[in-house]
Amino acid sequence: MMKKTKSIVAEHGGACFFCGRPAECEHHLLFGNGARKLAEQDGLKVPACNNCHNMGRLPERIHDNPMAEKLSKILGQAMYEAKIGDREEFRERYGRSYL
Ligand SMILES: [Zn+2]
Ligand SMILES: [Zn+2]
Repeated sequence: MMKKTKSIVAEHGGACFFCGRPAECEHHLLFGNGARKLAEQDGLKVPACNNCHNMGRLPERIHDNPMAEKLSKILGQAMYEAKIGDREEFRERYGRSYL
């Protein structure tokens, strides 16, 4: 089993990053085309409840909501650049820049 990394974005604390209700899963800020695995290694993830993650009504969840998905990736890159590496390194690792 793969070792879980700690989030560098938010303390887990049991609360959903988006609404504050009890967290039931983790949302990886970068995802698609293998990015989720890299985001796991980099700790670019936040605790979420199932409703805010992918089970709520479309306007209330991240996944399949184009604006929310884009903002998630922008936040992921901003956190990467704040704590891990520069834009060129991000681009190399994740294949593109969202900023
Ligand atoms: Zn939530
Ligand atoms: Zn997710």
